[in-house]
Amino acid sequence: MKTLRLVLGDQLNLQHSWFAETNDDVIYLMAEMRQETDYVKHHIQKVVGFFLAMRNFSDSLKGKGHQVVYLKINDASNPQNLENVIKQQISELQIEKFEYQFPDEFRLDKQLTEICESLDITSKAYSTEHFYTSRYELRDFFEGKKQLILESFYRMMRKKHDIMMVNGQPDGGKWNFDHSNRKKWTGSPPIPEELNFSKNVTALLDEIDEANIQTFGNIDADSFNWPTSEQECEELLDYFCNHLLIHFGDYQDAFHTDEKFLFHSRLSFAMNSKMISPKRVINKVLEHFYGNETDIHISQVEGFVRQILGWREYMRGIYWMKMPEYASLNELQNHNPLPDFFWTGDTKMNCLKQSIGQSLDEAYAHHIQRLMIIGNYALLTQTHPDEVDQWYLGVYIDAIEWVEITNTRGMSQFADGGIVATKPYVSSANYINKMGNYCKNCHYKPAEKTGESACPFNALYWNFLDEKKDYFQNNQRMSMMLNLLKKKNAEEMASYKERAQEVIAHPERF
Ligand code: FAD
Ligand code: SF4
Repeated sequence: MKTLRLVLGDQLNLQHSWFAETNDDVIYLMAEMRQETDYVKHHIQKVVGFFLAMRNFSDSLKGKGHQVVYLKINDASNPQNLENVIKQQISELQIEKFEYQFPDEFRLDKQLTEICESLDITSKAYSTEHFYTSRYELRDFFEGKKQLILESFYRMMRKKHDIMMVNGQPDGGKWNFDHSNRKKWTGSPPIPEELNFSKNVTALLDEIDEANIQTFGNIDADSFNWPTSEQECEELLDYFCNHLLIHFGDYQDAFHTDEKFLFHSRLSFAMNSKMISPKRVINKVLEHFYGNETDIHISQVEGFVRQILGWREYMRGIYWMKMPEYASLNELQNHNPLPDFFWTGDTKMNCLKQSIGQSLDEAYAHHIQRLMIIGNYALLTQTHPDEVDQWYLGVYIDAIEWVEITNTRGMSQFADGGIVATKPYVSSANYINKMGNYCKNCHYKPAEKTGESACPFNALYWNFLDEKKDYFQNNQRMSMMLNLLKKKNAEEMASYKERAQEVIAHPERF
């Protein structure tokens, strides 16, 4: 039966069982589409990264003897939306059966279900064979439970997949080494020289330009730095194991003006596009840790495994459990607009200037920059979660809705009312000053609470607690903060509130 198999841009899994054998009756379909470039305004590196990875993937399939129809963005015959792309090929190639892999985004899942219902040939959906968990495994695991606690999910995953377990107990005697992962980086240990793929992407940029796709952010056309093939993902993984894993956990929460990536793996794009699987990443890391005589402490490895086996699978499970309602939650009723400096990095607040500037330059910021600097500011200024989501979904090369929205709307903005996080991730300048050096060269002073040179985060923090105190009054994890709030005298609070209102109303002044 002549079969058309769709491969979406984030389904670049060369190890999928579909590709184990060639078959003359099977044609693979891949398409660069305006539908995907335009559903949100993306960072230019994100568009380049996905197109390049898709083209490499198509070449690899052809190299293995598979038949591939690949529609480029400027092909005259490209209908630019999924339904017409599929129907056009079914008709032209006289296809008798349509197959696809389950998409990870709700939007595409719905669209493909509807397309299949409208076809007059049979269709079938397959697993992407990428994740450890199935779509609804987390929902089933938490059935009947009040809270969806990451730690219990993570422990189940460790046991189920026999990862870092010894005789049924966690290796190292503990499930979690999080408390040893909180060091500030002040210049040592040295950060190894970055692995840079240095690809020239001028020709592709011309094509994107010709298509008039609206993007933002910066790109070095001579030196594109993201992996876009399975081979390059393997190189990045090797590099991480050999050079970065040794200090990964220790400096996971640190940030510094001289080092954008510190000891982070930068494997999120590789995994989210499925060029490399989480199993491959974890197995390689464990192989490196257990198989070699290395000096790596178990806390570094556990910290890394928890991010992928725990958080990544957990976020995906929450997404499928809670969508589509999740996408419009705004539990704290925040309605302010996102400041213009999110698109330029032009602000006197150095932590934001560095973190947003880096996001615009690299299409990347690490977790604490996303959570405790940019997200912290957005939440303290009570920004509408829709605006926050749109920005995060566009700016990061690894941003795909299932993992973006759960982190942004959930973990960072508390817009889900505490499904993902048990308390809001907010802080004053104190935390930012403790974990990095951004405050050192800032226009504002982290220790000053009031006055022109006082750090705006301080006033914003107390203003936020004051405005949301009724909402959080029964949250045990907020009781210490709310008790401190109660001790503030009226005059001090009035000056915080006045300054906070000015920051919110006139972010361009700061
Ligand atoms: P490392 O620090 O090296 O961590 C290793 C891997 O662990 C990552 O590649 C990632 O796959 C996984 N991981 C770590 N934390 C998380 C997490 N909270 N959720 C899911 N996976 C995690 N991650 C995305 O992949 N896409 C997003 O769009 C995204 N948006 C985010 C938005 C906000 C507001 C926040 C706070 C976090 C977001 N994250 C997102 C999670 C995390 O910040 C990134 O996965 C990480 O920074 C990617 O860089 P890395 O590969 O160097 O990660
Ligand atoms: Fe950010 Fe305040 Fe520190 Fe400046 S002083 S870097 S605004 S936390």
